[in-house]
Amino acid sequence: MSTIFSKIINGEIPSYKIAEDDRFFAFLDINPLAKGHTLVIPKVEVDYIFDLDDETTKGLFVFCKKVAKGIKSVVECKKIGITVLGLEVAHAHVHLVPINGIYDIDFSKPKLKLDKEEFIELAREISSNIKL
Ligand code: AMP
Repeated sequence: MSTIFSKIINGEIPSYKIAEDDRFFAFLDINPLAKGHTLVIPKVEVDYIFDLDDETTKGLFVFCKKVAKGIKSVVECKKIGITVLGLEVAHAHVHLVPINGIYDIDFSKPKLKLDKEEFIELAREISSNIKL
């Protein structure tokens, strides 16, 4: 069975794409904690992040670094926080969240409501600032 994130990778479901290479894909979270909240996923369909093979694990972190630098250059924040939950979607993914303090990465707080144009513009700006 194909996860919703595999469908995003395949283009069957639309997403606000940030970056992609042969092994990884990054796109904006549709229920963001902050502007620029991004999900980074391996293309291989594995549920639990610590079940990924070592090469994919290493590559995922390096890919996250490149994406985080792109987000940081566009969204004003102290740092890009990194979190893995995986409670909702059974396809390993890393949350990259612009933060100024601990409250900014509290997943229990209400999510931002952005309109489609804001998502499109954010994705465009961030993706044009990523060097893979
Ligand atoms: P979790 O599995 O607990 O890390 O949460 C899954 C995350 O994926 C949540 O933050 C959702 O807002 C996000 N999400 C679910 N479906 C989509 C989608 N189609 N496009 C972008 N983000 C999504």
